[in-house]
Amino acid sequence: MDENFREALLPSNLDELWTMWNRFPEARPVGGSSNIVSNYGYGDSLSYPDSIISLASIQELQGITRSERYIDIGAMTNLNQILALGKAIPEILLLSLNNIASPQLRNIATIGGNINSTNPKGILPGTIAALSSLDALLEFHSPKTSRWISVSRFAASDFRLDATKLLSKVRIPIAQWNYASYKRFDLSYYPEIIVMTGIITKTSIAKIKIVYSGTELLQSKAAESIIEGKNLPLETRTIKHFIDEWKENFENANFIRPLIKSQILSFLETELNKLT
Ligand SMILES: Cc1cc2nc3c(=O)[nH]c(=O)nc-3n(C[C@H](O)[C@H](O)[C@H](O)COP(=O)(O)OP(=O)(O)OC[C@H]3O[C@@H](n4cnc5c(N)ncnc54)[C@H](O)[C@@H]3O)c2cc1C
Repeated sequence: MDENFREALLPSNLDELWTMWNRFPEARPVGGSSNIVSNYGYGDSLSYPDSIISLASIQELQGITRSERYIDIGAMTNLNQILALGKAIPEILLLSLNNIASPQLRNIATIGGNINSTNPKGILPGTIAALSSLDALLEFHSPKTSRWISVSRFAASDFRLDATKLLSKVRIPIAQWNYASYKRFDLSYYPEIIVMTGIITKTSIAKIKIVYSGTELLQSKAAESIIEGKNLPLETRTIKHFIDEWKENFENANFIRPLIKSQILSFLETELNKLT
């Protein structure tokens, strides 16, 4: 593409988008532009995209719908629009969204833009841990195909860095989540995060999901299975067994700093003791 060439494309539906994208294959889709304009994701102004395709006028990418089984969120829905739905949205996602930037930025930033954002340290965006804990799926489109991919798979694959695919929808399976806890480990953009979400009855832990996100996701299904189905209060030895399992889980996780590992363990222990 010509170095001095700049193109801003504004398709009004998906068909127009594909026609334009075929013509300018290097054009980058933009949602609210907050990551691109801040230059944060790109690191320096030299890597600002030559051409952009604004997704703002594409109706198919807007809005939130709820069926018996799923909540579907269009990629162009901004973070405050999701927050405005309150209890209709799983609490762990609300906690995560509330911790992203400022209310003003959340008016601009879209869920699709957040999920596809990158930062120089390679830390995953702030919605990924919560969406992964909820078993959310992402619908990606190219001109002729569409496919669903789980958030955990997306986070672990090169797919995340493929700028030629369009994220159209986020799908969250509906479950009776009634417990959520969220912790971020520093105050930079894209901090490391751990989320817990679960279904807790008066007497037992019916279901629990715990996901860490940093440069990669980390979950321990083995640790979850130690406390899932257990009666409350948890026995001290069950909590110890659970913590030991997470310690083992950390052994190959060189991408997490030792200080953060110990903070995660102490957070998990505190949360389990609170349930008890
Ligand atoms: C001051 C500030 C503080 C911030 N703090 C946080 C924070 O605490 N936690 C956090 O997670 N983030 C943080 N961010 C990043 C912020 O979340 C992102 O800038 C925002 O979510 C991006 O959304 P957007 O719609 O503006 O995306 P855009 O800037 O439009 O796009 C971002 C990227 O996603 C791609 N993209 C956009 N939409 C789609 C789509 N539908 N399909 C495929 N690719 C797409 C674009 O090509 C681009 O690569 C912060 C940003 C700023 C400026």
